[in-house]
Amino acid sequence: TSPELRHDDSLLSPAARPLAAVTGAELQAPLIQGGHVRYANLDYGASAPALTVVSAYLNEVLPYYASVHRGAGYASQISTSVYENARNIVRDFVGGRAEDTVIFTRNTTDSLNLLAGCLPVVDGHPAGEVLYLDIEHHANLLPWQHVPHRSIVAAPTLAETIANVREALAQGGVSLLAVTGASNVTGEILPVKELTALAHQYGARIVVDAAQLAPHRSVDIAAADIDYLVFSGHKLYAPFGAGVLVGRPDWLDAGTPHLAGGGAVREARLDSVTWATGPARHEGGSPNVLGAATLARATQVIAELDQDEWHAHESAIRTHLVEGLKGIEGVTVHQIFSDTDPADTIGVVNFSLEGYDAGLVAAYLAAEHGIGLRDGRFCAHPLLKRLGLPSGSLRASFGLGSRLEDATRLIAGIKALKIEGL
Ligand code: PLP
Repeated sequence: TSPELRHDDSLLSPAARPLAAVTGAELQAPLIQGGHVRYANLDYGASAPALTVVSAYLNEVLPYYASVHRGAGYASQISTSVYENARNIVRDFVGGRAEDTVIFTRNTTDSLNLLAGCLPVVDGHPAGEVLYLDIEHHANLLPWQHVPHRSIVAAPTLAETIANVREALAQGGVSLLAVTGASNVTGEILPVKELTALAHQYGARIVVDAAQLAPHRSVDIAAADIDYLVFSGHKLYAPFGAGVLVGRPDWLDAGTPHLAGGGAVREARLDSVTWATGPARHEGGSPNVLGAATLARATQVIAELDQDEWHAHESAIRTHLVEGLKGIEGVTVHQIFSDTDPADTIGVVNFSLEGYDAGLVAAYLAAEHGIGLRDGRFCAHPLLKRLGLPSGSLRASFGLGSRLEDATRLIAGIKALKIEGL
């Protein structure tokens, strides 16, 4: 019933066009068109649509898909080289050191669980605790429940929070500081370089959960001295099913093999095993070659983006959306820290509408306006509770294919809801 929206993108200002069209990093057309209205995908933070070069690459390597490392045949050799080359591409993407191990996993969650099995042990006992803030996604909270851990409640300002992290580290006994690069709830970026220096000052290492950061900002782990970095392909314009852990080899080579099985051993005897070192130790079984290959291909496209253009595009949409939402009575835009610089926020806006259930608002926006966004507690229950949102809120998130118009439509949708009611 909605009128068809027609556009001539070339007439629009750069921020009003999808960045993908400007940079050539084209995205797959969304499958759902929402009747005649273009589907406004404001859920990039959950999973970003695949890039067309990525799906073309998938088709290119698919015919050669064969078991890696174990076959002498032509297809096996190609698959092995695609897979191993993907490691090098990912290492370059994150500015990894030559000695860093690059392990392919299923996703960020898998990568953090893997690291939890590699924490240092002295005389059979854990050598320290994992320290983290209460703002983390469950992927960076729950794996640490199985090991000695300590959590800190974030303070109202980032400055105080960092001071509290310092204090906790100074008490000693921390082996690993686990921190998100950017909040999946509010988009606020954490100062990972500063936190890395702090961790190192007190003899701890750091793992950065870059699931949200990597799709919006470039990361250089060698320059920032980050010990471990993890992220997922499906949030980075690649298909589901592949993630990575990149980092220092010593803990990883001594840790519990994440997936014990074929390929993870040097020698298996009936009564004892000599485990492999390097990525093989943790990648038992037939790996997800296509997932790794497409993830790596996506990183190459992202690495080529003009940084200024990329950030300006997302920040223009964000500013427009935040201002529009704040202008509506009853809407609150949420953030964790009162002193966050808007420039240090990725393409995520979290908000709620007084008197309305977030789930019903999301369903209304989808059904009546063709807008897809996320509602709920964003796998961050402790943070939502502390923000005073125990039953959840709404999250609009965007990226390369987003347009200013998507934000305009969301603002109009919320205004219409206030007039029409549910
Ligand atoms: N960490 C953050 C900050 C996230 O936003 C997410 C996903 O939403 C994850 C971790 C978990 O990612 P995955 O589901 O790909 O393991």
